[in-house]
Amino acid sequence: MTNSNRRILEKLSKAANQADRDETNIKLIAVSKEQPEERIENSLASGQRVFGENRVQEAFQRWQLRKSVYPDLELHLIGPLQSNKAADAVALFDVIHTVDRPKIALVLSQEMASAQRSIPCFIQVNTGEEEQKAGILPHDLDTFLSFCRKEAALQIVGLMCIPPIDEEPALHFALLKTLADKNDLSELSMGMSADFETAILCGATHIRVGSAFFGLRPT
Ligand SMILES: *Cc1c(COP(=O)(O)O)cnc(C)c1O
Repeated sequence: MTNSNRRILEKLSKAANQADRDETNIKLIAVSKEQPEERIENSLASGQRVFGENRVQEAFQRWQLRKSVYPDLELHLIGPLQSNKAADAVALFDVIHTVDRPKIALVLSQEMASAQRSIPCFIQVNTGEEEQKAGILPHDLDTFLSFCRKEAALQIVGLMCIPPIDEEPALHFALLKTLADKNDLSELSMGMSADFETAILCGATHIRVGSAFFGLRPT
């Protein structure tokens, strides 16, 4: 295992301890987008099997063949999804973190039905109510959640957020936790390289760590 991989796992354990949580309830998603192949190979060799990607096409190229080599791979879509990529996303990914509008919920539902797959999904919440950011606004969540369940028959397991870069992430993580509790959702996808320990203290069950795990993405 590389040093940075090991360091992240140690920090995860420590934060879980501090929060009095069982660390096995916290999943480290290694965000492999834009990372060189060599780093991905190293992490696979060290046993990492859970990866996150934010683009369907890029993920396909990187992972489609590897899925047969590593049957225990678990691939998470953490970036925005367009309707015309939904079929590919359903074919490739094991978890989708970015259900963020009624149209994509319906398209996913159709594609899952035709592929005969039921993929666990998170609803992305725009906790900072930022204009340019994807996600359901907090006050629209109840309605959207019931739409996803009743109209789209999606398996919604939790909530995901990306806090505004210039605000204290803990406030957004706490808001996401409150929204999840209120709706009986047990999974929380929150925390990235800079703030995953804070996210664990706030209840994250899935942390999405890219650069701190693999090294900085080459530009
Ligand atoms: C890229 C990305 C991450 C990982 O970012 P790092 O800062 O490199 O850890 C996490 N979540 C999402 C949605 C991303 O797009």
